[in-house]
Amino acid sequence: MAKIVIIGGGVIGSSTAYHLALAGHASDTVVIEPDPTYEFAASPRATGGIRQLFTIPENIRMAQYGHEIYGQFETLMAVDGDPAPIDFHRMGYLWLGSGKTDVDALMANWRVQTAHDARIELLDRKGVQHRFPSMRVDDIDIAAYSPDDGYMDPYSVLMGFRRKAASLGIRYLKDRVVDFEVASKRVAAVRLESGERLVADSVVNAANCWGPELCERLGMKIPVYPMRRLTFYFEIREKLEPMPLTRHISKNVSFRPQGAGYISGNTRYDEPPGFNWDVDYDYFDEAIWPGLAERVPAFEALKVTGAWAGHYDQNSFDNNAILGSWVGGIENFYIALGFSGHGLMQAPAVGRGLSELLLHGAYQTLDLTRMGYQRILEGSALSDEVPKA
Ligand SMILES: Cc1cc2nc3c(=O)[nH]c(=O)nc-3n(C[C@H](O)[C@H](O)[C@H](O)COP(=O)(O)OP(=O)(O)OC[C@H]3O[C@@H](n4cnc5c(N)ncnc54)[C@H](O)[C@@H]3O)c2cc1C
Repeated sequence: MAKIVIIGGGVIGSSTAYHLALAGHASDTVVIEPDPTYEFAASPRATGGIRQLFTIPENIRMAQYGHEIYGQFETLMAVDGDPAPIDFHRMGYLWLGSGKTDVDALMANWRVQTAHDARIELLDRKGVQHRFPSMRVDDIDIAAYSPDDGYMDPYSVLMGFRRKAASLGIRYLKDRVVDFEVASKRVAAVRLESGERLVADSVVNAANCWGPELCERLGMKIPVYPMRRLTFYFEIREKLEPMPLTRHISKNVSFRPQGAGYISGNTRYDEPPGFNWDVDYDYFDEAIWPGLAERVPAFEALKVTGAWAGHYDQNSFDNNAILGSWVGGIENFYIALGFSGHGLMQAPAVGRGLSELLLHGAYQTLDLTRMGYQRILEGSALSDEVPKA
């Protein structure tokens, strides 16, 4: 018997396990994870960015708790004096805008962000040029610069959480959840691929892209599907000034430094839902490279030397995480799904929040109620990401 079964030992499941262990519930908790190498999991394939450039207060606050944890991760997640480095670079985030709609949107966002203690500077064209002389700025009318944000190595984050959680007594079971036994509107047990069944008080679905199928088995419909995102690593001969994670908000282009080069992640506008592990190099040449070269002329002569495909657990309803219990459904079934590209930065806050829900029946620190499934049932979307004026 496990009091709490967590399905999926990625960064979300492992952060939740870590927070439960901190609260003294390690021996009550089991994490079911079929693949300790995490070959197809989203966590190691992420860009690793953390930003406060959101407009939903909960998203800003989750990123801020992310900063609190990731800023001291190396020592916080040390095991027997062995540190847990995550290569955290606070290079900043820079969102660029052109035209009135972008200006209005970034200014409206800035008002919300600064009201929630995020240090965001609004820059004009000259300000961007002054800081980042290698960028082409003649089409830029505004930029939001968030100097405290940055990126880290996502695999190290995942392993840091997992190793620490295990050291605190959390059990990771190498198996796969294939079904549920339900009685009196509760999950009574989870059935595993090995044939084992695990009786549980509470079940947390943190299986990311594979999570919706498990929800479906219980009759819970969530608007989440896997969406391929391609990441390309490239190098140039020239050495540029240190660059932030840069994105133009109304053009489909973004990049950030990575080691001796840069990475650029992108999703096709016409990407169909579902798993697809192919890397489409033509797409880079046709759709990504021109945008990069337009922004940074030195990228004209770039050379791609690596690429991979990963999948967002895309929430097609409002692009935000769906967190918490299934109101009106199976009472002891909790989900943390639909992160839509934000799960790494939100993992600390989600882990803390879920552990509070599981142990106290309510959020104790940051109230994440609005991120719950209720909004899906009611059809009331949480709007984030550059509201259009
Ligand atoms: C290309 C890309 C770039 C991204 N960039 C960023 C970024 O810059 N910043 C950011 O914050 N986020 C980013 N993300 C999103 C982030 O990676 C995810 O939101 C986060 O890793 C989700 O963590 P997870 O634990 O839910 O999922 P995963 O890491 O996918 O873990 C889920 C686990 O569940 C397991 N599982 C599956 N089925 C079962 C089952 N039936 N039983 C038991 N276990 C099961 C899987 O094996 C897997 O290990 C990016 C994602 C991608 C793909």
